[in-house]
Amino acid sequence: MLSLLPEVSAAENASELVSFSSCIPTVKLYCRPLIRTFIWNEKTVNMSQPGYVATPPYSQSQPGMGGFSTGLGPPTSSPHYGHYGGPNSLYSAPQSGMLKSTVPFGSSAPVGSPPPGIHLYNQTNLQNGPGTPGHQQHRFQGPSPGSSVPPSYPPYSHQSQPPYANTASPSSTAQLANQLGTMQINSYGPGASPSSRMPSGPPASFQGPPLPPTQPQMAIPPGAQIPPTPANNLNGICTPPSLPPLAMQDGIPGSGPPNANLQQLPGQPPGPGYHPQHVNYGPQMAGSQLSYPGAFPGGPGQLAGPQQKKLDPDSIPSPIQVIENDKASRGGQTYATNIRGQVPPLVTTDCVVQDQGNASPRYIRCTTYCFPASSDMAKQARIPLAAIVTPFAIVPPNETPLYVVNHGETGPIRCNRCKAYMCPFMQFIEGGRKYQCGFCSCVNDVPPFFFQHLDHVGRRVDHYERPELSLGSYEFVATLDYCRNNKPPNPPAYIFMIDVSYSNIKSGLVKLICDELKTLLDKLPREEQEEASPIRVGFVTYNKVLHFFNVKSNLAQPQMMVVSDVGEVFVPLLDGFLVNFQESRSVISNLLDQIPEMFADTNESETVFAPVILAGMEALKAAECAGKLFIFHSSLPTAEAPGKLKNRDDKKLVNTDKEKTLFQPQVNFYETLARDCVANGCCVNLFLFPNQYVDIASMGLVTMYTGGTLYKYNNFQVHSDSPQFLSDLRKDIEKRTGFDAIMRVRTSTGFRATDFFGGIYMNNTTDVEMAAIDCNKAVTVEFKHDDKLNEDTGALIQCAVLYTTISGQRRLRIHNIGLNCSSQLADVYKSCETDALINFFAKSAFKAILTQPLKTVREILMNQTAHMLACYRKNCASPSAVSQLILPDAMKVLPVYMNCLLKSCVLVGRPEIPTDERAYHRQLIMSMDVANTQLFFYPQLLPIHNMDVKSDAFPTSVRCSEERLSEGGVFFLANGLNMFLWLGVSAPPEVIQGIFNVPSFAHISTEATQLPELDNPYSKKLRSIMKYSQSQKPYSMKLIIVKQREQPEMLFRQFLVEDKSIYGGASYVDFLCCVHREICQLLN
Ligand SMILES: [Zn+2]
Repeated sequence: MLSLLPEVSAAENASELVSFSSCIPTVKLYCRPLIRTFIWNEKTVNMSQPGYVATPPYSQSQPGMGGFSTGLGPPTSSPHYGHYGGPNSLYSAPQSGMLKSTVPFGSSAPVGSPPPGIHLYNQTNLQNGPGTPGHQQHRFQGPSPGSSVPPSYPPYSHQSQPPYANTASPSSTAQLANQLGTMQINSYGPGASPSSRMPSGPPASFQGPPLPPTQPQMAIPPGAQIPPTPANNLNGICTPPSLPPLAMQDGIPGSGPPNANLQQLPGQPPGPGYHPQHVNYGPQMAGSQLSYPGAFPGGPGQLAGPQQKKLDPDSIPSPIQVIENDKASRGGQTYATNIRGQVPPLVTTDCVVQDQGNASPRYIRCTTYCFPASSDMAKQARIPLAAIVTPFAIVPPNETPLYVVNHGETGPIRCNRCKAYMCPFMQFIEGGRKYQCGFCSCVNDVPPFFFQHLDHVGRRVDHYERPELSLGSYEFVATLDYCRNNKPPNPPAYIFMIDVSYSNIKSGLVKLICDELKTLLDKLPREEQEEASPIRVGFVTYNKVLHFFNVKSNLAQPQMMVVSDVGEVFVPLLDGFLVNFQESRSVISNLLDQIPEMFADTNESETVFAPVILAGMEALKAAECAGKLFIFHSSLPTAEAPGKLKNRDDKKLVNTDKEKTLFQPQVNFYETLARDCVANGCCVNLFLFPNQYVDIASMGLVTMYTGGTLYKYNNFQVHSDSPQFLSDLRKDIEKRTGFDAIMRVRTSTGFRATDFFGGIYMNNTTDVEMAAIDCNKAVTVEFKHDDKLNEDTGALIQCAVLYTTISGQRRLRIHNIGLNCSSQLADVYKSCETDALINFFAKSAFKAILTQPLKTVREILMNQTAHMLACYRKNCASPSAVSQLILPDAMKVLPVYMNCLLKSCVLVGRPEIPTDERAYHRQLIMSMDVANTQLFFYPQLLPIHNMDVKSDAFPTSVRCSEERLSEGGVFFLANGLNMFLWLGVSAPPEVIQGIFNVPSFAHISTEATQLPELDNPYSKKLRSIMKYSQSQKPYSMKLIIVKQREQPEMLFRQFLVEDKSIYGGASYVDFLCCVHREICQLLN
């Protein structure tokens, strides 16, 4: 072994660290101002008042910058560059047959059989409620006044409430009072009638006037009280009435009250249920210690509360119904993108996308496909204007991959003024000699090599032969001017950095990783036409010091070099560190065999962390390439070194103004490090195996800002957790990735991109830098008006990503989309997409919690929801009784999704929820695309017991509520991170036999994390459902088997998101009432 530098004393390191930390103000670098959309003014009941913070005027013209910083991309007016890329001026087709004539791109019919799950709308499934299929009138009618029992309220509510009168019938009130003793109904006391705040129309009004076809209505019955908002706790989401045990009994015939059952579970885990192991994290919540003061009303203390009859859950808008309706009307079809402002099928609907001039919804989805024409309108509606861009999204094999355009040494054609790239929005004029830019209206000369005549409708005759004229998405080969230092980039490198401290050796993790890498490295990504991957690999192990390995192909044995100066880490070797796997296979294999033995007797339990990242970044820098680090780490890095962390977890901060600090890094070092990593194209993937708090807010920061992926396996056990971990590792290594990327979003005049959310880094206000971006990562972009929009030309968006391919080619990936503009609010509401709205709301809220109290963030979300719906009611809906809740068709499930977001462990703020779990979820969601946030916030729940095993069709989902479960049922639930199989106590023996190969419920073991592979229809079908659920998901899910009335059921119930949560989140019904009340207040 070779130690290359004298050890630096711990004292020196420490003093250096302190001075370094103290000279950089906290969150200066990364935390931009809060989500500006969400400034909620308490006086904003007048909806014409601005809800947005004004932003300064903006000029899109940035001459000379080429849209990219650091010399990336010249103005197109100086086309004298060296040779790089293709030799001629015609774009080079990636394959023969791509030149098109009349119907050039893709076939008009779906190719191949669509995945199972489409066309499956099951009319006989009554569990989804009685809503009518199709998009016609939806009328949600509450129970008749006679059957209504007013909800109860948590005890605090009477102390600070404005007086409310109880309008429930005396008999039902009396009945409730008898049952519950301490009911709070009377606490509203005499005084103002509820009609002063939420007038109840006469019963006739429930029938109401005829409605426009696209607005569901829900009448709040006079007997059902709208829960009041606690005066000083707007949030709480709302004051959730107690859960009704009797109602639950109705839901599961013959079973005991499920909530009582919940409370009786002994030793139930305190955590949010996201991982069964989290019991180790924080103080235990005693099983029956369920009373929590503070901000969250309706917490566990009320779980066993009084019965109340409320709105019939079947009568309120069902997410499943919406999903199934869309599948029925649009599933299995071809979706062509030729119409501007067209709302695409939902993310849950399978269809074949055909690019006809706008980017596929796989690449870009928008919160609305029709922007308000003026900023005043936008402020009135307060609908976020945002696009969720997934530039590297995977397209299925039956859709056309992106074409690559190569203009040789001249490079891509760009507008002289705004630098937008040639695209279908450019208008050719003057016989084809000039074109007018669709973004800035500048008239540009057509370069001679690009000239083409126009046909009788003014279209270039080669329109369909050039992707950049006729497609929404395509790529350009970039010239040297788009490269660092004007040099073509090297192919990227992957560096594997393994924590070999005591716990990782002892658990067998190190051996597992080394064994896997021996075969996995054969699967490094490569270009389709190439046999081998150009990606080079390198290896580092570490504990308190770093060990670099020379694995040069001509060595008989690998060589190790130790860097013990972690205070100023450096790379001790260049030649032989990053190698081609094929060439060095035997040396690498030798090394991977030796590593577990080399450290078998280690006693070292302390680790460093930041120096590991730093070393990886320096190695990439020295090799002049971008790349990914794969770091496998277990513990809080407490060894003396830069970025050293201490356990600063403090549950007392929860629900205080300082709660935000739990989500901020504890030292500034990581922010500086992240910035340097991005600047050097170093993406950090982090695989964490914690047994206790590891400060994910600090440790995950570099991963987040470099576009890396964070994986976490609590209390990792080789025998039960290996499949999940290895699947994640394999997927990540094989992932399509763009390296060293910069994204720029351009817009037509009148609006502009103002904020960006995702695994990104911003050095200025326009360039979105990403050390890498893979197929699962999305960037959410928010837009604001700076002028009026033109209804004729619409709102055009061009998203350009400059990146390096795996083979080291510099490319520009262009996605264009045109949206409509309208001066009619109804048009805007009609074109909204709830799934995209929730993606935006989640990310903006999760960004906001770094700087604002969580309570404020929750209030903002709640208020904005009410505001959007109130504006619709006021301006777009037909006149109707105030007691009716009217939801725009495109937003009818916004309340249920919003409630799920508000109940998420990130926003819910309860001391029992491990801080790391919250930081982890926050980080994951920040870079999720729309499909993944949809599934995360509203899990898929499938009945398995009655599925048709003979058909390929999947069962139809049911709503995520306990009422949909049954003792005789078996249900599968997945949300993209967790996966459960729930078994009712009376589940059919033949199903149990089929799935588990055991005779009865009692024989089922809940230890297993995988199902046995049995040769019978139940087993085959369930496993194929699970496999399909898992496909195309960024994270592998570990199966948890849950038996009804056994302990892990607590975890499972967290995912029944329409129900009240044990952490205080409101049920869907209660939340809807609350939203309605807020709307009424706004309208008054
Ligand atoms: Zn322009």
